[in-house]
Amino acid sequence: MTLDEFQKFAHQLVDWMVDYYRNIEHFPVKSQVEPGEILNQLPQEAPEKAEDFSTVFEDFKQIILPGMTHWQSPNFFAYFPANASYPSLLAEMLTATLAAQCMIWETSPAATELEERVMDWLKKAMGLPPQWEGVIQDTASTSTLVALLTARERYSEFSANERGMAPFAPLRVYCSTETHSSIEKAVMLGGFGKENLVKVAVDEQLRLDPSALEKAIERDLKAGKKPLAVVATLGTTGTTAIDPLKPIAAICARYALWLHVDAAFAGTALLLPEYRWMIEGVEQVDSFVFNPHKWMFTHFDCSAYYVKDRQALLRTMSVLPEYLKTSTRGRVKEYRDWGIQLGRRFRALKLWFVLRSFGLEGIRQILRNHLQWAAGLEEEIKGQNDFEMMAPRTLNLVCFRYHPPAVSDEQKLDEINQALLQRLNASGRLFLTHTRVQGKYTLRMVTGQTYLQKKHVQQAWQFIKQTAREMTL
Ligand code: PLP
Repeated sequence: MTLDEFQKFAHQLVDWMVDYYRNIEHFPVKSQVEPGEILNQLPQEAPEKAEDFSTVFEDFKQIILPGMTHWQSPNFFAYFPANASYPSLLAEMLTATLAAQCMIWETSPAATELEERVMDWLKKAMGLPPQWEGVIQDTASTSTLVALLTARERYSEFSANERGMAPFAPLRVYCSTETHSSIEKAVMLGGFGKENLVKVAVDEQLRLDPSALEKAIERDLKAGKKPLAVVATLGTTGTTAIDPLKPIAAICARYALWLHVDAAFAGTALLLPEYRWMIEGVEQVDSFVFNPHKWMFTHFDCSAYYVKDRQALLRTMSVLPEYLKTSTRGRVKEYRDWGIQLGRRFRALKLWFVLRSFGLEGIRQILRNHLQWAAGLEEEIKGQNDFEMMAPRTLNLVCFRYHPPAVSDEQKLDEINQALLQRLNASGRLFLTHTRVQGKYTLRMVTGQTYLQKKHVQQAWQFIKQTAREMTL
């Protein structure tokens, strides 16, 4: 492809992108293809001869697009959103154009310094402790792994990297039974041994129970095990339960444990002063992660990771081969030492574009709309005699199920709701996912899309009610 051809196709693509967003509501939200359907349309071998881009693009539209779920559709209410926005998309276009590998300051000083600045902006805007320092990681999963590795290294007085973990094992990590699977994965990958992840009981609101945590720690100490770290979640994946940080922080202080906070989704709510109660006790926190790529209109991937003790992180992660030694060493931040990967994308640009294009006020307004619409939905559900809330609503996730009064058998209710979810998603009109609350099949609806409007929530709710009531039981 020549540069002139690139220009021609780039213009075509931008027009397509605009049409896509204009018509996004008309695509089936969840891809409707069967397993293997895409694979079978793709040749077994890579092409020997160059193909015209028009042909490639046509195949993108014919073969690939039907196999895509439209995450940016305002009718996407599933999982947690990985929402994007037009300013963020423009930044991604520039990032792809520059195609810089920003592993160290010298390979693109602006990438490092912009990252430092935007992470500082966010920290202040969210009311996080001023002495914390931040870095952009790819995902919350990586951030949590980094946190536990740093905790391990600090516990061993910075010798486990050198000598291995054997002298210190078994190190115990605590979280609630509702914690995201990425914690389990970090424990596995960090070599702690999965049996050393202690899943502590939750209260009736599905929040980690601090007294159960303390009992587990005491039990472990008596058995000669070594409590290392606690992972508290602000906004669990199932129901957005908010673990009580203050009493957990006090326990961590008492037993000198590393406290990591996973606020992957809910962290964005800290931009709203009325939600700062979630971080009471934050002074005790050692590391904190939240994903602007979930609910802050910034393209995946962009995970904001903050630490209290930068030196502990650097001592855990630093490796300095000869070819990366530069004359600016010691005078600049080298984010390659702040995480696992060496090569780094220029992720700060999209965050910068988002923060400047929406402004904090603009972001807060959208968040408040999302929260208000979720509250309205909750009221609607509570007002029906054949629907029920399944967990307290803390933010913009509503957990509910269809419960026709004539049915009381729990297994039957599970089946009905499973069938309802399948029917709703097969319609292509919206996309919801499920969880289990106290073992009961529960539908989840998150009102968090960037360009969501109240009418989408209302339409979705009408459709859910209608579909449920039309089902033969
Ligand atoms: N933590 C929580 C609470 C989550 O809900 C999720 C994903 O939904 C994650 C961690 C994992 O996030 P990531 O995909 O950035 O690793």
